[in-house]
Amino acid sequence: MSLNTPLKNLPRVTPKYAQALAKLGLLTVRDLLFHLPARYDDFRRTVALLEEYLEQTVTIEGRIIKAKNIRTWKKRMTITEVFIMDDNEIEMKAVWFNQSYILDSLIVGSTIRLSGKLSMDDDVFSMSNPAWERSARDATNTGCLVPIYPETKGLTSKWLRWQIKILLEAAREMPDVLSAELREKYHLYDIFTALTELHFPESREKLLRAQKRMAFQEMFLVQLQTQKIKKDWAGKKSLSIVFDEKLIQSFVKKLPFTLTDAQRKSTFEILKDLEKPQPMNRLLNGDVGSGKTVVAAVAALQVVSAGHQVAIMAPTEVLAKQHFESFCELFKDYDFNIALLTNSYKLLNKKSELNSDSELSSDFLALAIKRDELLDEIKSGEINLIIGTHALIQKDVAFKNMALVIIDEQHRFGVAQRAALQQETASINDGAKKTIPHLLTMTATPIPRTLSIAFFGSLDLSILDEMPKNRKPIITTVVAPEENHKIYALIKSEIKKGRQVFIIFPLIDESLSATMAEVKAATTEHQRLSEKVFPEFKLGLLHGKLKPKEKEEVMQKFKNREFDILVSTSVVEVGVDIPNASIMIIENAERFGLSQLHQFRGRVGRGAHQSYCFLFSQKKSERLRTLEKTNDGFVIAEADLKLRGPGQFFGVVQSGLPDITMENLTNVKLIKFAQEEASAILKVDPQLKKHPPLADALQKFSEHIHLE
Ligand code: ADP
Ligand code: MG
Repeated sequence: MSLNTPLKNLPRVTPKYAQALAKLGLLTVRDLLFHLPARYDDFRRTVALLEEYLEQTVTIEGRIIKAKNIRTWKKRMTITEVFIMDDNEIEMKAVWFNQSYILDSLIVGSTIRLSGKLSMDDDVFSMSNPAWERSARDATNTGCLVPIYPETKGLTSKWLRWQIKILLEAAREMPDVLSAELREKYHLYDIFTALTELHFPESREKLLRAQKRMAFQEMFLVQLQTQKIKKDWAGKKSLSIVFDEKLIQSFVKKLPFTLTDAQRKSTFEILKDLEKPQPMNRLLNGDVGSGKTVVAAVAALQVVSAGHQVAIMAPTEVLAKQHFESFCELFKDYDFNIALLTNSYKLLNKKSELNSDSELSSDFLALAIKRDELLDEIKSGEINLIIGTHALIQKDVAFKNMALVIIDEQHRFGVAQRAALQQETASINDGAKKTIPHLLTMTATPIPRTLSIAFFGSLDLSILDEMPKNRKPIITTVVAPEENHKIYALIKSEIKKGRQVFIIFPLIDESLSATMAEVKAATTEHQRLSEKVFPEFKLGLLHGKLKPKEKEEVMQKFKNREFDILVSTSVVEVGVDIPNASIMIIENAERFGLSQLHQFRGRVGRGAHQSYCFLFSQKKSERLRTLEKTNDGFVIAEADLKLRGPGQFFGVVQSGLPDITMENLTNVKLIKFAQEEASAILKVDPQLKKHPPLADALQKFSEHIHLE
């Protein structure tokens, strides 16, 4: 038998078991050994039968004095009833239901161990459905930390324990992914010890050490992978765009505000990247409202002025249109041609052709144009700046000389999607087919530091951790149900002063998003508020079932103050700027994560007025109070990471990393060490030729894990 032996070839594995194992993707001995417990039952306390242990989980050892099966006709059940006697001659009854076959193994006179909750039944100690085994056996199912495997049909943990215990021997000669030096340096178990302790831990301490070893290994592979991607990317060629200090200074001077230090620093980092002949791959991470747009604009200005094209992409049409408006405004003094290209919009802001009766009557001027014509103008290079959804680079749009792609993802894209976008970007070329564009990604989800090191190792980071000075912090209050009426009164007075209000409510079941149930809930809530609470005001409604055009219309109406209040489900992207909205209400706030609540809150506080956020909550929760105390998205993200784990931040779930790694993502030291060691090893052995087990593991890892 070896690690590669198919499980179905083992004598104990019947075809039925083989099938169940295959369902879990467990085909070889190696697979089964790496099928790790989800949790452990602690049956380590072996005690005498005493009343003080009632209602506790314990292990009792005793001699069987009676054993029989009882059939109950009424309930159509077989009860197996066994009496044992411990060293002090105290009796205990154990019962099992519908497992009559176990009676054959329960031989009167033999000694057994039973683990479970001790209770009292008619003045006799008892246990129902205890785990048990003969005392002569090693403690595997009783009397120790007993592994419980992820539940699956047809495979019991007891069966798995038995198999794994036998197969573990095969791991003794397993090549170790982590070298002996590395293990020694960080006091990590070798792989055989780690697996042994994970399946059959001798103590909590040893179990923890084993878990740490596995987490380190996974994080080490993550780091190797991201650093390789980074190297690959750096091996490509990009246009080097010279930093024109005068140009940038005159642009910055004309802005109606001064840049924050964080904006200045980020801008500089980006301009420096653009000068290099290797493509930039940078993530600009800053809270909602931290001013990412103007940073992107400086980069775009530099590239367009050097004679190249720039693409800017947003996750939705509404946001793309908002960017189009912002950029037209920011570049109104420049002779740039800016286009908006999405399914619904084909707009062109072409300086030479604009006249007074242009298509759009809002704050900026643009012409509607046919798609074909627009595509021609993009291809010829007539258009300098192209704004759209990310379909822009996925579809068949040809550019003349695209040198910079900016992706404003808000918080929409998962890790895997982002990797795909990076690929798409790499496939765009400058027309001369020699270089690929620089890539700037912007995200509005403040990402905790440990997570960005762990997952964005292949990206350079610029962080906007400072809000523009003119911002008044949003006043946030957690509101108990009996106080709602006070808030409603406040809303009424604010609306009378001319302000507008968002009301967000969660879906009962998030999986029902954009289904009829959502529409119904949204409509009901809208009706209740319109009729019962705010009959004197006009209320708009947004939900996921609306078509993009309809959503856009509702948002536009809200922006034009045709509604006083916008009621919206949480699934709707309300990333549009409504400077006049000063109150955000979130119903059933306890259902959301802190980071998500903070994102909603960011929709207000964009204008000159004092803004408020009210978190309606059934339960008084300390967790929600974090939002009362701070407006700093990075602080909130750290708190959220500790409370709810990393899953919520960017669909890490899709990355396919095992639970052990996920649990260790708050462990800064572990991540740092893994990063250092990965870079050290790649420096001397980039192909991992001297580390075959590691090269092997990395190959397998990269096949099923997607990273930046
Ligand atoms: P986000 O990071 O959410 O994309 P925006 O770029 O939309 O933020 O900026 C939000 C608002 O703040 C915009 O109206 C913008 O003009 C303004 N703004 C940006 N930077 C500054 C600054 N340094 N001082 C004052 N206002 C600023
Ligand atoms: Mg933005």
